[in-house]
Amino acid sequence: MKFGLIEGIRQEATAGARGLCPGCSSSVIAKCGEIRLHHWAHLSTMVCDPWREQETEWHRGWKNEFPVEWQEVWHRASNGEIHISDVKTANGAVIEFQHSPITPQERASREAFYHPMAWVVDGVRLKRDLPSFCAALTDAPSAGTKLRAWLVRPGTSMIVDRWAGGSYPVFLDFGDAVFPPRWLPTTGLLWWLQYVPKLGAVATPVLRQSVVDHYRVGTPIRGLKAIAPTRRPGLTGFEAHLARKRGNRARF
Ligand SMILES: [Zn+2]
Repeated sequence: MKFGLIEGIRQEATAGARGLCPGCSSSVIAKCGEIRLHHWAHLSTMVCDPWREQETEWHRGWKNEFPVEWQEVWHRASNGEIHISDVKTANGAVIEFQHSPITPQERASREAFYHPMAWVVDGVRLKRDLPSFCAALTDAPSAGTKLRAWLVRPGTSMIVDRWAGGSYPVFLDFGDAVFPPRWLPTTGLLWWLQYVPKLGAVATPVLRQSVVDHYRVGTPIRGLKAIAPTRRPGLTGFEAHLARKRGNRARF
């Protein structure tokens, strides 16, 4: 956890500090070592939120894109379970930054509990995911949507397959990477996956900053404009045919 309570005030971990967990009110201790990010840990090994995962630099970086009061918001479920959402926006939408593997069951419970929500998925946890995604893109047809996008078919990209079946937006974060359409920016992109039953996922490269702004202030998510089908200069075969006919008629 990034925040613990000291005298009732949310604070970040500093060496030697002790506090209380904002969720379950049990004692937490500041861990400020060299290897892991500074964080608060429960004194007993009991973890109060069964959905929490160890926080990485990647998580912290994402959370910090949002106001402090939106980060680590506590919820109590009707069964008494406590859950911390990574970010909860002013509109009540939750954003979860997912690095670890997650079972379809757990994913479904979180979607049911946090609705509405969005997932930002760490695409670089497994080495094979990026090459498999790139290979899928190479063969993917254009999705024909307003924004430039591709249709990634089932069975062609492992990470896209793993995230199928949910009801909320999924954004894949591969960090800085080169994608097969070489003209795509190599930095500041996320891949927005929208699943179409049986067909696969429409994968739209979108600007990372526009996703942050969308959840912060409600501005639209921006991608790259689809290129309108270009017409070759000169006449098409059919037009040339008509012109010839007209020309012939004029001549006689
Ligand atoms: Zn706790």
